[in-house]
Amino acid sequence: MSAVCVYCASGPVEQRFLDLASEVGAALARAGHVVVSGGGNVSMMGALVTSARAAGGNTIGIIPKALIEREVADLGSDELVITETMRERKRIMDERADGFITLPGGIGTLEELFETWTGGYLGMHEKPVVLLDPFDFYAPLLGWLRELSTTGFVSQRSLDRLLVTASVDEAIELATQR
Ligand code: AMP
Repeated sequence: MSAVCVYCASGPVEQRFLDLASEVGAALARAGHVVVSGGGNVSMMGALVTSARAAGGNTIGIIPKALIEREVADLGSDELVITETMRERKRIMDERADGFITLPGGIGTLEELFETWTGGYLGMHEKPVVLLDPFDFYAPLLGWLRELSTTGFVSQRSLDRLLVTASVDEAIELATQR
């Protein structure tokens, strides 16, 4: 059993994105993994934790005090940690997770993805960092980063540290490998 931190959007309600988050939550739960999340119950974040629990899984939410209303704190969570700051939230999410999966999201999600990814390639942690991208949502970003690797701004080694897949099952397998 592993704890997997899932980063995803707090905004959109387009069905295919909500469905993806639900699918990931349920699949993690069925595989016996704990879901670590930002502790909100909106948009994809909400779909993720609701479906994880509906499938019998455990969820841990970590939310800063200032976002309790805005992100609708996930009161149904098996464990809800309320932090003073965003930095504390991120530290605890990182500490509680054995691996990370990022789904489509906005700038908050991107910030979290880049922090765990850069931390990984700099050798600050050994945890798997997975990008689950079945809709090619991240294709423009990944294309740009690959272009940058030809100029030396981004090393191939750092690109290789990010595990990109379109498959939910493979994402979970990758994120829970030790
Ligand atoms: P978004 O992808 O912008 O919808 O945000 C997804 C989640 O990331 C939300 O729970 C945000 O509170 C969170 N978030 C936003 N900014 C940051 C940040 N600087 N560090 C960590 N999480 C953040």
